[in-house]
Amino acid sequence: MLAGGPLTFSNPLPLAGYADAIVMGEADELIHDVLSVLESASSKSAALAALAQLPHVFVPSAHGASLPSIAKCSDERLPAYSAIRTPDTELSNMFLIETERGCSRACRYCVMRRSTNGGMRLVPKERLLELVPEGVTKVGLVGAAVSDHPKIAEIVRALTARSCHVGLSSLRPDRLSDDFVGALREGGYRTLTTAMDGPSERLRESLERRARIKHLQRAAELARAHGMKRLKLYLMIGLPSETDADIDECAAFVSELAGIVPIALGIAPFCAKRNTPLDKSPFAGITTVNARLDRLRRGLKGRADVRGTSARWAWVEYVLAQGGEVEGLAVREAVLRGGSFADYKRAFEALAPARATAKRSLFVLGS
Ligand code: SF4
Repeated sequence: MLAGGPLTFSNPLPLAGYADAIVMGEADELIHDVLSVLESASSKSAALAALAQLPHVFVPSAHGASLPSIAKCSDERLPAYSAIRTPDTELSNMFLIETERGCSRACRYCVMRRSTNGGMRLVPKERLLELVPEGVTKVGLVGAAVSDHPKIAEIVRALTARSCHVGLSSLRPDRLSDDFVGALREGGYRTLTTAMDGPSERLRESLERRARIKHLQRAAELARAHGMKRLKLYLMIGLPSETDADIDECAAFVSELAGIVPIALGIAPFCAKRNTPLDKSPFAGITTVNARLDRLRRGLKGRADVRGTSARWAWVEYVLAQGGEVEGLAVREAVLRGGSFADYKRAFEALAPARATAKRSLFVLGS
């Protein structure tokens, strides 16, 4: 099995027990070398031996747990875009295209921060527009920080003028302007979605997020001014150093925003990722995350729609994000036992003594 994708920027080790080879990072160019090896090799072992010699290809049987570096393709290869459009996908018939690759920001929890592969590489507006085929009615603009493209409002307006419905994968609150939100509304947006990230100003600063109270207030005002149905905010809880006071600040502030426009909160527990400044930060614990979620729900009752993802499954995500090959193989055990959370917990807990003996305290068990 050959694997790859965004996961490789952080931690592909849980896949090591399943994949014969893993292409690390941007495969746009490297995939051609990999396919040449696979076509010409006389046997699987010969193919793996040859793949292990390629830069940026991780072959677990040859490399153990030592990962090769991440590939970066030349800028001329950008952007990636849909080769196939079909109604039989989640984003039915949508033409997906990158507006840029990478990011110029430095959020401390993020794998795609500016230190990764040289930061943001922009796709010129003209190049992007010429690549969108005539007759396409749905366009998805994709990238780590799509709204940071300096011509983003012009791109959205140009596509809207071609009768395209436009979707963006990420909007940063400090990039929202009257012109941009107006363009989004013309492009079919009914909900303005952006990231609040931390529950309090103190935590947002500690994450090195540029989103501030004033940007979120402005986002709410722009959503109302342009007739959006609601403002949806993504938020993490269970962050390092977080206390109930941060949650209370969040409830008070979101209540204030709800006086401007209806608010929906999408909440995910924080899971530290490898290859980030917050790598190895502990998981807050299932009990703590659930208590904070309840506190926020109580504080916002009747004022905002609060939806949180499961703290239990976030803990599973955390173990895999921080884990290695044995955690990956434990997933197989859990799935074979039925795949419930209890099955995962049992499979991971069975690893804990071995991990402690090896003095590799990679994860804190949930409670
Ligand atoms: S703006 Fe988004 S992509 Fe960029 S560093 Fe922050 S979280 Fe990552």
